[in-house]
Amino acid sequence: MTYIPVVEEQRFLMRHVVRIDELAAHEAFATASPDVVDAILQGAGDLAAGEFAPLNRAGDTEGAKWTPAGVRMPDGFRAAYRAYVEGGWGTLATAPEHGGQGLPFSLATAVLEDLGTANMGFSLIMMLTPGAVEALTVHGTEEQQRTWLPKLVTGEWNGTMNLTEPQAGSDVGALRTQATPAGDGSWRIKGTKIFITFGDHDLTDNIVHLVLARTPDAPAGTRGISLFLVPKMRLDGTPNDVRCVSVEHKMGIHASPTCVLSYGDNDDCHGWLIGAEHGGMRAMFTMMNNARLNVGLQGVSIAERATQQAVAYARERIQSARAGAASREPVAIIEHPDVRRMLLRMKALTMAARALIYYAAGQGDRAHLGDGDAQARLDLLTPLAKAYGTDVGCEVTSLGVQVHGGMGFIEETGAAQHYRDARIAPIYEGTNGIQAADLVGRKLGLGGGSVLAALLADIRAEAGGEGALMALVDAVEHVAGSMAAVDVDDRLAGSYPLLTMLSVAVGGWLLARQAKATESDGETDPAFLAMKRAAARFYLDRMVPEATGLAAGAMAGASGLYEVTPESFAA
Ligand SMILES: Cc1cc2nc3c(=O)[nH]c(=O)nc-3n(C[C@H](O)[C@H](O)[C@H](O)COP(=O)(O)OP(=O)(O)OC[C@H]3O[C@@H](n4cnc5c(N)ncnc54)[C@H](O)[C@@H]3O)c2cc1C
Repeated sequence: MTYIPVVEEQRFLMRHVVRIDELAAHEAFATASPDVVDAILQGAGDLAAGEFAPLNRAGDTEGAKWTPAGVRMPDGFRAAYRAYVEGGWGTLATAPEHGGQGLPFSLATAVLEDLGTANMGFSLIMMLTPGAVEALTVHGTEEQQRTWLPKLVTGEWNGTMNLTEPQAGSDVGALRTQATPAGDGSWRIKGTKIFITFGDHDLTDNIVHLVLARTPDAPAGTRGISLFLVPKMRLDGTPNDVRCVSVEHKMGIHASPTCVLSYGDNDDCHGWLIGAEHGGMRAMFTMMNNARLNVGLQGVSIAERATQQAVAYARERIQSARAGAASREPVAIIEHPDVRRMLLRMKALTMAARALIYYAAGQGDRAHLGDGDAQARLDLLTPLAKAYGTDVGCEVTSLGVQVHGGMGFIEETGAAQHYRDARIAPIYEGTNGIQAADLVGRKLGLGGGSVLAALLADIRAEAGGEGALMALVDAVEHVAGSMAAVDVDDRLAGSYPLLTMLSVAVGGWLLARQAKATESDGETDPAFLAMKRAAARFYLDRMVPEATGLAAGAMAGASGLYEVTPESFAA
């Protein structure tokens, strides 16, 4: 099973979608020169292909294992993780004052994409730690930053994110973990968290858990939640009172230990408050927004892997003569138009979702430079990036199985692993349904609707010649405008179709931009440019109209559920 890093594609996106030259013109990102960007993209691809990809199968078949002494990773993972830490890959986008290289987040996004394409389950540890770093950078005290950041930034320690409890999934406000003051400035933590990614493992000497908990007499719901830093090992080298009691048996991403963590069995679990008491959701959202883009990126990563594998298989598998051809000789299945349709759809979806996420990451970089409009646009795009990216991951990996025919259903080809691995991404980090609710509940109304209006205006200004795309933009505007006037049930019933429509509009816009750029890009391989143009056209001509067709469902609102009530399903 081969994996080839998509360095050419990433370079192209850095130039035309992120527009990294604009970022590098600012002093804060001056180090992101074309040479440095190239070297990082090449180096990350080498690391991913050389160290991570060869472990993908063992990660799936052996997986992380619970033992009484702690969770053990399969052979080879420790060495690969060491290569990541020693190569300084974890430090890319962190500010220099905290030991990082201060490079754009969009560049770190490309690096993480490679690691995820090579080994999605493993890449989760590399994905979550930067979120913990950011939460501490924004909300931690100077002392907390001095104490915990240096080793988190390098990846010598990893960070986890602890929200979920058995009764508190999407409804985070229902969590019950308790934090009581210990009298010495620290807190005692007690409770059970479930589904904690990389909550225990043997890759690092310490694990820094960021845990949401309730302080005594805290108000009910999300308003009463605070965030605590709870290390696995205390600074004096003694173990803290937190234990991994089991690892879940899952459908995919077996290389990622999904842990049940028990805090304070002996009433001796030490934690430290991060940010203000009852300010936990705000602090955790710093980590979650970062993670939402990165989970969307996982969809792209796994879609890329599935596409590469399907193309390779379709070139080799011989089956049937070409319809209408004089020769009755069987041909490689890639000769059959319906197989090429599937492959092109896989390519186009992956490219569109990648462009959406890289663009959003570039907005994050501009926000970092103080651009408030970019921050607002990133806020609007975050639920799209998470949900559309992960939906694309599922559709493309499913098509990947289909291209393989019966062999796709057989584990040895690996196509099935991609399909199983991809399936978690629409669920965690706020289900895609919750992303759609966020879009219609909070994001459409940002700036009184002006943030959405500005985005649609940019699409019209740049891609006005694309008729199908303009029809979709009109439809988005119409649906979003109507939603302001309907009740909340109607809005929520139409939220998911609208999310997809807007995502496809942004993806189509950025592909149209890239197709245009192919005409004047002298630096890139002509075969790459031709494929880019073909995939962009396929998306704009075939897939954009599919999205416009979702308008009827988005507008139907709750009545579009045909008065089906919870009770109806008992019939
Ligand atoms: C492999 C894995 C790794 C994970 N890693 C972590 C981690 O590191 N840290 C962590 O804290 N958690 C983690 N999680 C938990 C994950 O974030 C939750 O599973 C997810 O948020 C959904 O919660 P739930 O499972 O309770 O589903 P539920 O909340 O029970 O949702 C079930 C269904 O109902 C829908 N639904 C629920 N409420 C609403 C609503 N208000 N509006 C519309 N639809 C709704 C959902 O969209 C979903 O389709 C992980 C989970 C898994 C499986």
